[in-house]
Amino acid sequence: LTRTDLTDSDHRTVVAAQLDAMGEDEVRALDRAHVFHSWSAQGLIDPLPIARAQGSYFWDYQDKRYLDFSSQLVNVNIGYNHPKVVAAIQEQAARLATIQPAFANDARSEAARLITEVAPEGLSAVFFTNGGAEANENAIRMARLHTGRHKVLATYRSYHGATAGAITLTGDPRRWPAEPAVAGVVHFWGPYTYRSAFHSESEEQERDRALSHLRDTIMVEGAHTIAAVVLETVVGTNGILVPPDGYLQGVRDLCDEHGIMLIADEVMAGFGRCGEWFAVDHWGVTPDLITFAKGVNSGYVPLGGVVISDEIRATFDQRAFPGGLTYSGHPLACASAVASINAFREEGIIDNARMLGTDVIGPRLREIASRHPSVGDVRGLGVFWAVELVRDRDTREPLVPFNAAGEAARPMAAFAAACKERGLWPFTHFNRTHVVPPCTTTPAEVEEGLAILDEALDVADEHT
Ligand code: PLP
Repeated sequence: LTRTDLTDSDHRTVVAAQLDAMGEDEVRALDRAHVFHSWSAQGLIDPLPIARAQGSYFWDYQDKRYLDFSSQLVNVNIGYNHPKVVAAIQEQAARLATIQPAFANDARSEAARLITEVAPEGLSAVFFTNGGAEANENAIRMARLHTGRHKVLATYRSYHGATAGAITLTGDPRRWPAEPAVAGVVHFWGPYTYRSAFHSESEEQERDRALSHLRDTIMVEGAHTIAAVVLETVVGTNGILVPPDGYLQGVRDLCDEHGIMLIADEVMAGFGRCGEWFAVDHWGVTPDLITFAKGVNSGYVPLGGVVISDEIRATFDQRAFPGGLTYSGHPLACASAVASINAFREEGIIDNARMLGTDVIGPRLREIASRHPSVGDVRGLGVFWAVELVRDRDTREPLVPFNAAGEAARPMAAFAAACKERGLWPFTHFNRTHVVPPCTTTPAEVEEGLAILDEALDVADEHT
């Protein structure tokens, strides 16, 4: 892995002028006065103003440095301010900053070519969107129009985005405030051996029982009414759930048996996160549609999309696909995806992510877990890991964000605060912390972060 970052002092010089332009207090005051934040009670938040970022780190206005174990929302796969990606955006902006989707342009053509080159065989076209939710919306629409059926099966332990259709697919409680939303979505249980819905005691049992449950669900819903099964190849925000070997192939076989489209949501798991271009590559399974966003260009400019099988593509050869927005396939976003994918190849970034998982994060997390009674389970691959915290290892009672009275102790908040004090930005959700640094993180940086995590777990241990 080669790094061509600016030196820290170069970077300070570059950003100094902007920092002078607006001080921390003003940023904070204007934010609180006028910015309406997503997923938040506006009166209960105090967002940290961020001044600059580089590689695996970002800095606040006090020049305090945080090692990013969150990759923001698990999207900064290439790290911050990668010089080749920044330059590609600048060059594209100077030449052609915007063009509507009906025209062809070189950035979009090349991005589509590169994405289909790294996607599984048989997926040869890309529909571009501005993010992950919109990719899932369009994937469902394609599957419905292609099959002429209306139902979509999705898993309970999932997040697929916040727009109407995507939040309906979402199985976790983020769906509840949006209900009733889009008709025709049915949920089923996917595999999760540590907290099995099927009381399984092994990965093999979990795989077989989860497949049998899906077969039953298809039967009682009526196979002829089902357009698609949607799943996160490796479940992300619901706990980094790596499917048992054979599960995805089993789902593929069930779909083939019944003419159902398989949609793999790789918005979080794709583009290096799992140490492969796409997470499905681990199991050699080819979906009919793959949705992506985040890591395709690390969110430097919003971009997502759907990679489409030849069979579905043919459906829309002589018939219009009804979808697309003003900014679909935006040249700045596509230029940044081209630079990002090329840098991934040239700099061995996928190999680095895979190596970090097998040689550093996995072994070190298991060793850390053995010393902390609050760690119930550790699982993952690549730079996509979960540490699940429990009050009691035997009962597996989650170390939830609130104590039984719903207040005060907040062990997860205390754990997160202990990380931040020590300069580590964690990704915590419910009773888990996810270890999801950029794919470009060095082994030494990962060790630095895991040492802090190890110390912060002492705080969690006090609540066991
Ligand atoms: N799908 C998955 C698996 C995700 O993790 C996310 C976001 O976290 C989405 C879809 C939605 O993506 P976006 O926020 O870009 O709409």
